[in-house]
Amino acid sequence: MRILVVEDEFKINQFISQTLKEMGHATDMALTGLQARELFEVQEYDLVILDVMLPDDDGLKLSRHFKQIKSTTPIMMLTTLSQVEDKVKGLDSGADDYMTKPFSVDEMSARVRALLRRHSSKELLLRCHDLELDVVRRHAIRGGEIIKLTTKEYALLEYFLRNVGRPLSRSQITQHVWDLHFDPESNVVDVYVKLLRKKIDSDFPKKLIKTVVGVGYVLSDE
Ligand code: CA
Repeated sequence: MRILVVEDEFKINQFISQTLKEMGHATDMALTGLQARELFEVQEYDLVILDVMLPDDDGLKLSRHFKQIKSTTPIMMLTTLSQVEDKVKGLDSGADDYMTKPFSVDEMSARVRALLRRHSSKELLLRCHDLELDVVRRHAIRGGEIIKLTTKEYALLEYFLRNVGRPLSRSQITQHVWDLHFDPESNVVDVYVKLLRKKIDSDFPKKLIKTVVGVGYVLSDE
């Protein structure tokens, strides 16, 4: 999943982004409201983590703005104010959840997982042919065997399975699975597709990940 982190305090932003990366997500950092608006215009996000107090913008206003552009993207507000009144204001602005600073890594990861689960397709098991991906336990299953995946392999397979039959270009894949400032010349997508094929395809006669010449890759059972 791709997540936008809007927080002007660099250290906090970095802490959040790093935690999300360790969970296998791609993240973009915005240190101002303006940066956040610009990124939100050009990128598709699966979640926005949004600080209420920004130097150049009001987080509540920004939250309403994002919801107007794309109402389905969940928003989690961050604040140092723990008053009930502010929580109500945050939720009125369209925010889906609220977290009070300071918070622990565990609390944040649990809330992010819950929000993404609530907002992504309700299915907890993504499927193509005899391949399944358990999005709660974060492993694949093929031919009844559990296949363990690294965080990046998991993120890549999840993206493929949410786009079954749709050819995905290398740049689409890097945008969703890696970070914005990723070197487009890098062959990391090919490297990871190879690793994934070894795990989910090589022992089976029917191959699900196919190369689309001149484009990238597609996962399908055709
Ligand atoms: Ca702030």
